[in-house]
Amino acid sequence: MRRNQHDMLDDIDAEVRYTRTLIGKDALDERVMEAVRNVPRDAFVPTDMKAVAFENGPLPIGHGQTISQPFMVALMTDLLAPEPGHRILEIGTGSGYQAAILSRLCSKVYSLEVVEALSVAAAAIFERLGYHNIETRIGDGYQGWPEHAPYDGIMVTAAATHIPASLVGQLKAGGRMVIPVGLPYSHQELMLVRKDERGEVRSKSVLGVAFVPMVEAATGLTEN
Ligand code: SAH
Repeated sequence: MRRNQHDMLDDIDAEVRYTRTLIGKDALDERVMEAVRNVPRDAFVPTDMKAVAFENGPLPIGHGQTISQPFMVALMTDLLAPEPGHRILEIGTGSGYQAAILSRLCSKVYSLEVVEALSVAAAAIFERLGYHNIETRIGDGYQGWPEHAPYDGIMVTAAATHIPASLVGQLKAGGRMVIPVGLPYSHQELMLVRKDERGEVRSKSVLGVAFVPMVEAATGLTEN
């Protein structure tokens, strides 16, 4: 049977309970769940994927990229702990879905994407849905977006091989970064990185994940 937004919320709740020993809680922040409830995921998937838009799984969005699994979007948002006055940097706009969720929870989202067509398409959806507090830019996430730094939170939605020092440098004292780290299509860990008030950085692994790789545009590794 075709699942709806309500079923998707139930599926997220169920997966949170299933992973409770790993994530250390059996329910996500109510504000996060409210944002997931209010952002229409079907608006962010291609036309031929609308029928399965509310399944709790990743979906292809073209250009070899995916919109992340709803549970993962909700969990990463919860870990980032965005607050109303926060300014957040997202790496990997993709479909725009994660940025849209963040935009409901903080004052400003800056979202970087390397694939121009994805960035343009996501910006058009933000405009249509009236999400005016999201700024998009085409660029390499490994460099971050220094002009608006430092950020209260940084959300990376593609797997990096390491925690980029440039991004840590763009994080405020007291800020958090959520980032999948590991080898492409191999073992990856979702990491929660925290910078304390003295600027010391601590990171911990939350659970194993599978993300599309973050391309190293700056080094030319993926240039064709
Ligand atoms: N947040 C997205 C998930 C997209 S998948 C969503 O909600 O749909 C990861 C995205 O990261 C892809 O769109 C990919 O093109 C982008 N990406 C990969 N490497 C990148 C890099 N170095 N800089 C910026 N974006 C990158």
